[in-house]
Amino acid sequence: MTYQIAIDGPSSSGKSTVAQIIAKRLGITYIDTGAMYRAVTVAVLEENVNIENNEEIEKILSNIKIQFKWVENKQHIYLNDKDVSEKIRSTKVTSNVSAVSALKAVRELLVELQREIASTNSVAMDGRDIGTVVLPNAEYKFFFTADARVRAKRRFEENKAAGRLDQTLEELTELIIKRDKYDSNREISPLKQAEDAIVIDSTNMTVDEMVENVLGYIKH
Ligand code: C5P
Repeated sequence: MTYQIAIDGPSSSGKSTVAQIIAKRLGITYIDTGAMYRAVTVAVLEENVNIENNEEIEKILSNIKIQFKWVENKQHIYLNDKDVSEKIRSTKVTSNVSAVSALKAVRELLVELQREIASTNSVAMDGRDIGTVVLPNAEYKFFFTADARVRAKRRFEENKAAGRLDQTLEELTELIIKRDKYDSNREISPLKQAEDAIVIDSTNMTVDEMVENVLGYIKH
């Protein structure tokens, strides 16, 4: 029998890191749904489409192919057979992803894809609406939170390690707060804690502590 672990929360709350590690430990599939929204954003930016133009957006979505593949022990994301794993983390994509994610057609397509993957695989899936909308019957639901400044600092260090040095800590803090606000206030599937989710405040936790905390609840 397959089972599902839903991990939601704002950006840089620790959810992706933890989802990835626990998936490996449990031998199940990790799905980074944020990467999927980011890949669609790459497609929208490449086509230079106004996001209010429904027809154009529909056209892009009808031709889109998104896949995850493992390359040298790391999960990569492909957009129409092209590896966009680096590109999806660019400042331009990060600045535009919330607006693209708020579109109904985009959410419908990706939610369907996410449910399809979860229907045949045990998954640890992270995002904003996994416990509330995508997998409301998930066996395990977690909601990660953390102080915004701590989250910005984490993202800053992550960017530095990856050689992305185009944003200061202050700029990142501002962008994170703006993105949280946008994601929490959008009409469809806003970032929200599921009523039955276990809340984990990761502000003062190390990654190991977050992982052990989550694994403590998993009885599979
Ligand atoms: O998790 P990450 O920060 O990469 O997500 C990027 C963006 O994708 C979020 O800010 C949000 O706008 C969108 N997203 C979403 N629903 C999800 C996952 C991500 O709307 N399940």
